[in-house]
Amino acid sequence: MPNSAVWQREVTLPIGYLDEASGMLHRQVTLRKMTGKEEALLAEPSLRSNGGKLISALLANCVTHIEAMAQVEPEVMRRMFSGDRNFLLLELRRLTFGDEMEATYRCPHCQGVTTLLENLSTIPVRVVEDEGIPVIAVTLTDGYRDLDDNWQYELVFGLPTGEDEEVASGRRDSNPTRQRDALLARCLKQVGNLDQRRIQAMGIRILSDLSMPDRRQIQKAVDATTPGPDLTRQVNCDRCGEQYLTTLDMSHFFSTA
Ligand SMILES: [Zn+2]
Repeated sequence: MPNSAVWQREVTLPIGYLDEASGMLHRQVTLRKMTGKEEALLAEPSLRSNGGKLISALLANCVTHIEAMAQVEPEVMRRMFSGDRNFLLLELRRLTFGDEMEATYRCPHCQGVTTLLENLSTIPVRVVEDEGIPVIAVTLTDGYRDLDDNWQYELVFGLPTGEDEEVASGRRDSNPTRQRDALLARCLKQVGNLDQRRIQAMGIRILSDLSMPDRRQIQKAVDATTPGPDLTRQVNCDRCGEQYLTTLDMSHFFSTA
């Protein structure tokens, strides 16, 4: 009989999957170790160009059970929150290859590469303490001028899901600022007293019209409150000695395979 502790692990999601049929939030998930099937997924050209789709496909294979659900449809992984998906990816890496991972970082000052041995078990995970799905509220300083020349200041963002990631990373535009705006625009739930249809019609243009200080404020609020693993890293450059802030690159999580 195979040793199940080696092959699978039960984990608790930081946010939880909302089953729309029952209205219940599920947090207990069982993962299985990656096999040759997933190695082939990682090498699939159509998935390599869309990080969101690759994560959905990996998790659809490796999540074997979600509490109180009879079966796990691939669609569930797309509807899952990004914070939970990133957490599952982290746990999948730990289950398959262990906690230690060699990570490389490129210095923004001198382009020098620093290699560090990371221990993935020490990555802090921000967990939602009470039942329910949080939103991120931001009060703008400079404000947004809508089409009727009214100024709006109160923005509310929902948490991004796998589907949002897939759409944002599927854009032809590879500019990282606009990709991030595309993801944020999909999560924008409220802009002052504008109605929902108008927000959707304006989409990414609302974000690109905001002042840079207001945009920074949004990014800070998102970073400070989004649940899931905190992949922020402070690195001392091996070459020039400068210290810089960066993030652990999840797209190379499985490249040692
Ligand atoms: Zn440097």
